[in-house]
Amino acid sequence: MRKTHWGDVITYSRKVFVPLTNMCRDTCGYCTFVKHPDSPLANIMTPDEVLKAARRGEEKGCKELLFSLGEKPERRYEKAKKGLQALGYETMSDYLAAMCRLVIEETDLLPHVNAGTLTEDEIQLLRPVSASMGMMLETVSRRLMREGEAHHACPDKVPLQRLRTIERAGALGVPFTTGLLIGIGETWAERVESLAAIEAAHRRHGHIQEVIVQNFQRKPDIAMADHPEPPLEDMLKTLAVARLMLSPEISLQAPPNLSERHIEYLAAGINDWGGISPVTIDFINPQHEWPEIVQLARSTAQAGCRLQERLTVYPAYLAQAGHYLDPQIARRANSMARPDGLARRQVEDLLPGAAE
Ligand code: SF4
Repeated sequence: MRKTHWGDVITYSRKVFVPLTNMCRDTCGYCTFVKHPDSPLANIMTPDEVLKAARRGEEKGCKELLFSLGEKPERRYEKAKKGLQALGYETMSDYLAAMCRLVIEETDLLPHVNAGTLTEDEIQLLRPVSASMGMMLETVSRRLMREGEAHHACPDKVPLQRLRTIERAGALGVPFTTGLLIGIGETWAERVESLAAIEAAHRRHGHIQEVIVQNFQRKPDIAMADHPEPPLEDMLKTLAVARLMLSPEISLQAPPNLSERHIEYLAAGINDWGGISPVTIDFINPQHEWPEIVQLARSTAQAGCRLQERLTVYPAYLAQAGHYLDPQIARRANSMARPDGLARRQVEDLLPGAAE
């Protein structure tokens, strides 16, 4: 299926990560990204800090700026509310939209926003200033909301809320990234149900540009520190089932930095390695460094495939820019794309010879 629909090209997006705030009103049992407002490390990045990170990314040839942030911390914590007010904003979504605009005005990057559950108004606010959006569905299991489970007391992890966000993004014509987090207590049947729900939304709206399958990682400082990690076989099976269940035009992605044996994902049907940063750590899994891009190109080549850089918006959506992209964003994305829709400027470390 992968070969038929995607050929031997495996893509990645060269991106800079901007963790706009690490405060969040949820408390997922596996999260290391989030910091409680009492922690001295809890913060909201200032516009200067955002721009500084963006410029570092630009210097290293990034095309995408990924805003990742906790969910609506201002609704739960005074520190987040006051922090936002000091910056001149009432809600994190308003601030995020302003920072996307700043990035568009001051840099050549394309913003992608990963802001969790969103209302229709929030999507409409963010759409003109971003090329694509994302939110991991993670799972449709309501069981995991129970006490002692991964999503207990996390209002934004109610599966229905996440499915509604995916649905709204589709109705509003947003190229959308979603996916599964596996190994957090869900059953095989629930994994399959989650994939079926994503596929159903895609059939209604055609907007799911990629599905990520991500494996739970045990870390010492999380509530689930003793929870077992899913074995590689679970990743391979889930990826293969995803490849077969999902419409073949949906890009299938797994992160290369969360398993030493990631190259085996290629045989399970993936066609994309996701976002790889030449400048910032993986803020969601900070203990796992990104592989060197040259090294990834080499191992991808050894598996009989070619690594190529894409933009945050996939070629098929760029080709339908009238429906999926704001005109200003479409102009920028088109100027960055070659005729096949992948990145026009493939960064030097992937030029012929470098990957051999
Ligand atoms: S995983 Fe996301 S929603 Fe859950 S606590 Fe962390 S930042 Fe918040």
